[in-house]
Amino acid sequence: MMLDAVQALGRLREGNRRFVSNRAAGHVLLNPTRRAELVAGQEPFAIILGCSDSRVPAELVFDQGFGDLFVIRVAGNIVAPSQVGSVEFAASRFGTRLVVVMGHSQCGAVIATLEELQGRAPNQSRNQRSIVDRIRPSVETLLVSRRVDDPDALLHDAVRANIRVSANQLRHGSELLEDLTRADGLVVVGAEYSLATGIVDFFDGIPDAG
Ligand SMILES: [Zn+2]
Repeated sequence: MMLDAVQALGRLREGNRRFVSNRAAGHVLLNPTRRAELVAGQEPFAIILGCSDSRVPAELVFDQGFGDLFVIRVAGNIVAPSQVGSVEFAASRFGTRLVVVMGHSQCGAVIATLEELQGRAPNQSRNQRSIVDRIRPSVETLLVSRRVDDPDALLHDAVRANIRVSANQLRHGSELLEDLTRADGLVVVGAEYSLATGIVDFFDGIPDAG
């Protein structure tokens, strides 16, 4: 039985609390029996679009095991057509109803974008540029605000702006996902993982528990 979005969010929050307090239990699920059960099919309860950063492995920070999370990782947790397609695939094929866009503090892709906008970027390849180009619009406006004199605050705001934009692109960039949202309880939320504390802060688009 598939969890609804609110239930799925609760399960992620509980898992992150276990992770943060050093009570992670995920390894219990990492056994041959569980792996064998999943050969016949999967029913992941959440879709995570996260950053490729080695310090932000989704299964570990949410203390989940095989078969629990459908994870898409790309530098800067950007939304390009193949990311939308991956979310569509899982939401339509498995009935997963919670999508989490998870960015993180000190994101290198966001830092590279800020550096480029401030004229301090090293030469990037065309492929790296394609990532920066997707982050740039969401952080560009921040640079003309007062935050520019405070680099830490600027980076923090830029990370969150990038997460909000990615979440909105998933909410409004796909007819299939819009239909599932309207008719079938699909929810897209935005979250930021803190490298320092291990805490995932769900801050965007949180559904009412009722
Ligand atoms: Zn990152």
